[in-house]
Amino acid sequence: MIELHGPEARQIVVLSGKGGTGKTSVTAAFSHLASLEKHTQAVLVDADVDASNLELLLGPTHIESHDFTGGQIAVIDPTTCAGCGICADVCRFDAINENDWYVVDTTACEGCATCMTQCPQEAIHMEPEMAGRWFRSDTYFGTLFHAALLPGAENSGKLVTLIRQQAVRFARREHRPLVIVDGPPGIGCPVIAAVSGVDLAVIVAEPTVSGVQDMQRVLETTRHFEIPAVVCINKAGIYPEGQEMIEDYCHAHRLPVVSRIPFDTVVVEAMVQAQPITMYQPESAVSATLRQAWEGALAALERAEASCGIA
Ligand code: SF4
Ligand code: SF4
Repeated sequence: MIELHGPEARQIVVLSGKGGTGKTSVTAAFSHLASLEKHTQAVLVDADVDASNLELLLGPTHIESHDFTGGQIAVIDPTTCAGCGICADVCRFDAINENDWYVVDTTACEGCATCMTQCPQEAIHMEPEMAGRWFRSDTYFGTLFHAALLPGAENSGKLVTLIRQQAVRFARREHRPLVIVDGPPGIGCPVIAAVSGVDLAVIVAEPTVSGVQDMQRVLETTRHFEIPAVVCINKAGIYPEGQEMIEDYCHAHRLPVVSRIPFDTVVVEAMVQAQPITMYQPESAVSATLRQAWEGALAALERAEASCGIA
C-alpha cells in the first residue's frame, strides 16, 4: 500500500517507445488496482493528449472544463490597415495573404510577432490561439485530468505539463498519495513533459523486431532525467527471440522486468466493454500478470524512495 510521506504524491508514468503497445490498458489496470485500496486511490492523468484514449476505459464525467491557449497569432485590423504590404514581405512563414485586404492565415502563423513590430500603422495585434481544452473528471477509479488538442494544434508538451501540474496540485490538496500518468508514446517533447519529475517509469515493451529499439529509446529519456524504471513485457511469447533480447538487455542494465503479460484476446474484449481488464476478467492470466506488474511497480517505487531516504 502506498502511503503519503510528506505533502507530495508519488508519481508513476507508464510509457512505451511507440503507440499500440498496450500502455493505456496497463495504465487503466493500474488505476483500477489502485482504487481497490481506499488509501491508495490515485489521481490519474492522460498525458497522451494527441490521441487520448484512457478516458474510453475509465468512463469519465466532466467536473471542470477549461480552454487551453497554446500560443499566439497575429490579427490585422482592416479599418487601420493602409495596405502597404510590409507585413506580408517580412513574414518568413508566408502567413499573410492579400485578398481584398491583408489577412493572416491562422494555420500558417507561427506567432513570431514580426509583422506586428513592423507595421507602420500599428494595425496588427497578437491574440492567444485556442489550441484545445483540458478537463478534470470523476471516474470509478479516481479523479482524471485529461485534455483534447484541436486538430493540427501544437504545444502538446505545454498541455501535458499543464494537466500534470493540475493533477499534482489536486493530489496535494486532497491528500492523495499517488498520481498515475498514461504517458505519450515515443520520445518527443510531450514525453519529456510527462516524464520530468516523476518517481518511477513503467516501460511497456513489445517483443517485436523493433520492440527492443523502441524500449531502448524511451529508456534513454528516463535515464537522462534520472527516473528509476521497470519494464513490463506485453504480448509475451509472440516472438521468443525478441523477448529474449528485451530480457537480456534488462538483465545487463539491471532493469527489473516486473511482468510478462501474455497475448490474449481478452484485452480487446475489455476495451470493447470499456473496462480495465483487471475488472472485466479478474481471473484471467492477463489480469494476474497485470497485478504482478502493479505490485512490481509499487515495490520499485518503495526501493526508489528508500534509496533517496524519503520513506
Ligand atoms: S503592414 Fe500594417 S498597414 Fe501595411 S499591409 Fe500590413 S497590416 Fe496593413
Ligand atoms: S506573427 Fe509572425 S508568422 Fe504570424 S503573420 Fe506575423 S510575421 Fe507571420
